Amino acid sequence: MIKENIANILEELPLGVDLVIAAKQRSLGEIEEAVSAGAKIIGENYVKEAKDKFDVIGNKTKWHLIGHLQKNKAKQAVKIFDMIETLDSLELAAVLDRECKKIDKIMPVLIEVNSACEPQKSGVLPEKIEDFLKETLKFSNLKPEGLMTMGPLLDNSEQVRPYFKSTKKLFNKIKTAYGNKLNWVYLSMGMSSSYRIALQEGANIVRVGTAIFGARKY
Ligand SMILES: *Cc1c(COP(=O)(O)O)cnc(C)c1O
Repeated sequence: MIKENIANILEELPLGVDLVIAAKQRSLGEIEEAVSAGAKIIGENYVKEAKDKFDVIGNKTKWHLIGHLQKNKAKQAVKIFDMIETLDSLELAAVLDRECKKIDKIMPVLIEVNSACEPQKSGVLPEKIEDFLKETLKFSNLKPEGLMTMGPLLDNSEQVRPYFKSTKKLFNKIKTAYGNKLNWVYLSMGMSSSYRIALQEGANIVRVGTAIFGARKY
C-alpha cells in the first residue's frame, strides 16, 4: 500500500519536483518500507523521533526537518538533518550556525514564511523575509536555498492557493534580487490535501504524509 501510494505520487510529480515523505508518528517499519519504495527524502517534525529512525536507517535516505525547531535541540538536529526547512528566527539561526561550525557542516536551510500572517503560527512574516534573509547571510555555516510555507489550515484546500501564490511571488522576487549570489532554488509548499494546488503555483518540494500512510492516529 505504502509502496503503491509513493509510486503513484512520484508518477504525478513533474520532473524537478522533490517528494518529502512526512513521517511524523509513523513507525520505523513504515519508514523503512517507504525508503525501500524509493523515498529519497524523509521529513520529520521532531528531533527525538527523527533520531530513533535515523539511528537505524541512516543515510539510505535524506532527512529534512519540517517542524518547528527548539534551540535546545539544534545540537542534535544538525547531526541528523540534510536540510532544515523551518528556519523561523535569527536566534535559531545563530544557534544552528554555532552547532554546524562545531561539526564542520554547512547546513542548507529554507526560511519558513508565515504566509497568512497567523499570530499563533511560527514562520517569518512575508514583509520581513528579505531583511531576515540578509541577516541569515551573515551566518557562514548556513546556506539559505529557498522558502517553505504551511499556509493556513482551511476546510477547502483551494482556499490556500492565494498563500501559495504570494509565497511563490516572494520567492521569485528574492531570486531576481540575488541572482547568482545564492543557490536560491527550493520552494516547499503543499501537503496531502494541497500538493496539487502547490504544484500549480510553482512548488518544487511537496511534503506528503497522509496520502501515503493513511490517516494519523491521535
Ligand atoms: C504533517 C505535515 C505534513 C504532511 O501532512 P499530511 O496532511 O499528512 O500530508 C507536511 N508538512 C508539515 C510541516 C507537516 O507537519
